[in-house]
Amino acid sequence: MESELGANVSQLLAAIGPAIGPCCYRVDGEVFREFKKFSWAEKVFHPLKGGSYLLDLPRANYYQLREAGVKEENIFLAPLCTSCHCQNFFSYRAGGGVVTGRQAALLCWRGK
Ligand SMILES: [Zn+2]
Repeated sequence: MESELGANVSQLLAAIGPAIGPCCYRVDGEVFREFKKFSWAEKVFHPLKGGSYLLDLPRANYYQLREAGVKEENIFLAPLCTSCHCQNFFSYRAGGGVVTGRQAALLCWRGK
């Protein structure tokens, strides 16, 4: 956005909507190894017995935005896990891969 559209990253606002939370998103070591290239990887993986991890995916997106230069105070995280709140949100994992749906997000760009 900065190079192609002339966006001022320091003025960007970012909102990370409801997503599966670290309470429910269990991944295996292969996922962890893929993320190890990121300096913040240790902050978003919580090891479990048996070599699996709980992954804080919203927080991983937060760190990516921070690395891109978005100010901490301009990033908003929805504190809702879609799997824990599957009565309100679609959750592939909570639905066992059978119940599916989609969520949408809107983006507004106010150019110069
Ligand atoms: Zn959860």
